[in-house]
Amino acid sequence: MLEFPLNKDELEQIIERYPTPFYLYDEIGIQNNAQQLNTAFAWNNGFKEYFAVKANPNPYLIKLLKNQNFGMDCSSLPELLLAEKCGIVAEEIMFSSNNTPVEEFIKAIELGAIINLDDISHIDFLKQQASLPELICFRYNPGNLRTGSTIIGYPEEAKFGFTCEQLFTGYKLAKQYGIKRFGIHAMIASNELDPNYFIETAEMLFKLVKEISAMVRIQFEFVNIGGGIGIPYKPEEKPVDLSIISEGIKAKYELYNLAPIKLYMECGRMITGPFGYLVTKVRHIKQTYKNFAGLDACMANLMRPGIYNAYHHMTVLGKEDLVHDTLYDVTGSLCENNDKFAIDRKLPQLDIEDIIIIHDAGAHGHTMGFNYNGKLRSAELLLRDNGDIIEIRRAETIEDYFTTLNFDRLTEF
Ligand SMILES: *Cc1c(COP(=O)(O)O)cnc(C)c1O
Repeated sequence: MLEFPLNKDELEQIIERYPTPFYLYDEIGIQNNAQQLNTAFAWNNGFKEYFAVKANPNPYLIKLLKNQNFGMDCSSLPELLLAEKCGIVAEEIMFSSNNTPVEEFIKAIELGAIINLDDISHIDFLKQQASLPELICFRYNPGNLRTGSTIIGYPEEAKFGFTCEQLFTGYKLAKQYGIKRFGIHAMIASNELDPNYFIETAEMLFKLVKEISAMVRIQFEFVNIGGGIGIPYKPEEKPVDLSIISEGIKAKYELYNLAPIKLYMECGRMITGPFGYLVTKVRHIKQTYKNFAGLDACMANLMRPGIYNAYHHMTVLGKEDLVHDTLYDVTGSLCENNDKFAIDRKLPQLDIEDIIIIHDAGAHGHTMGFNYNGKLRSAELLLRDNGDIIEIRRAETIEDYFTTLNFDRLTEF
């Protein structure tokens, strides 16, 4: 578990300027982490991590990662435009979308992004309704050949990707259509802490590269093993040892004699997850059949506990070392009983106004936010490497909430 990067006084000063709840990201932490990933895979000439923008689409973080030579993995028009605005162009963008509208393909091709197709029918869809790119990648779904994870489910139940047979047919067709540059992709794990899983995924793809190259007579430029590297949300869990993944993949890469094929990755969670915190305040304490601590944040700010029953560690500012002897359900204010950040969590005795820090919220946190029940998304702050705080996204206002509504004809009703 990472320690919160600020002390009590520092955080209290920030709260005076920026009311809770807010997200806080640690620039140095993200930077070092990105560097470690690049270093771990430095053996592969051309290794590139395409940060999954959906995990944290804040332009400041995107820029920070771009400066570490990361590309961006996008899957919607706004994500493509965001990458473009951050100066990420051409093959620095991996477009791994699914059920894709034609205008998104057109924009991605216009940007020169790497097009990673989710379905065999999209080859002709592109040809007829957009244009064929010069480089194409297909997403593989191994079906029952691999087991899944709780978040993504079993591959054969998943909506993503080509079957094995479709891969062979698809590359053949793409070759017939004159496409000359190829990649292959799979993304079948989520929040996986076992390094072997990624070595197996890489090997699965390496084998396919060999078989497809031989059968279809094409050359692959890259293998994209997707994202899905987990983070230790629970105190007893350990971070994935990147050197184990890297060494394991390197051994397979050499075994299959794949040079000069480039290895790509599109992790989101492990890049920013541990370095983001949701800072929130206890608003009410309620005692009925259980103890409830009601926060000023709710599931609209962080929905992982509500939808995945995910564990997020919490610390109480200034009470970190007190005995954790009181059971609480830590809740938000939605009219939904699954609006709980924790159920039966042992915490120190809480008081109104206590500051609660919810850890590991830097990925799939703010970005999953929503406006149900009229809840507003919070601000995002960045703790700079020099100690400065900058607001990298303001909190939503009620005006924002009303902007899409049209009241003009309300009086007629
Ligand atoms: C969500 C997603 C990722 C990133 O997943 P993480 O679990 O955040 O690493 C990568 N690739 C695709 C296609 C995704 O949908």
